[in-house]
Amino acid sequence: MLQCTAVTLLPPDAVLRLTAPGADCPEDPEPYVLCELGEHDDQRTEHAAYLRPGRTPDSPALWFFWTGNGTERTHRAEPAPWCPALLRRIDSRLVQRCALFDHHTAAHSWDVTDPLGDLLADRLVPGDSPEG
Ligand SMILES: [Zn+2]
Ligand SMILES: [Zn+2]
Repeated sequence: MLQCTAVTLLPPDAVLRLTAPGADCPEDPEPYVLCELGEHDDQRTEHAAYLRPGRTPDSPALWFFWTGNGTERTHRAEPAPWCPALLRRIDSRLVQRCALFDHHTAAHSWDVTDPLGDLLADRLVPGDSPEG
């Protein structure tokens, strides 16, 4: 399943909250967020983007949910508990947790293909540096 391609601009208050003093990451957050769900019906299902982690890895993380575009958009930013689904890989014995929130629609995160994310990840892999 391909990832939903919806992108939206974060409202100023959400950006402010992410840059609040004491935030772990001092860099300016991207003012745009990308829906992380698998392709879904955007009339009936909200788009969802991960904003920031909770206090512990198991705490509910902050998500941005929205429907519609431009002036038609409705949105909310609120904590959501994690999806409890686990993927057990027989070959490597690794257990992967779903990276989405509980009761999300569409596929679990491991079944969602993110061509853009793969592209970005490829770029982050260090290649041959000029310094050797
Ligand atoms: Zn979406
Ligand atoms: Zn899931």
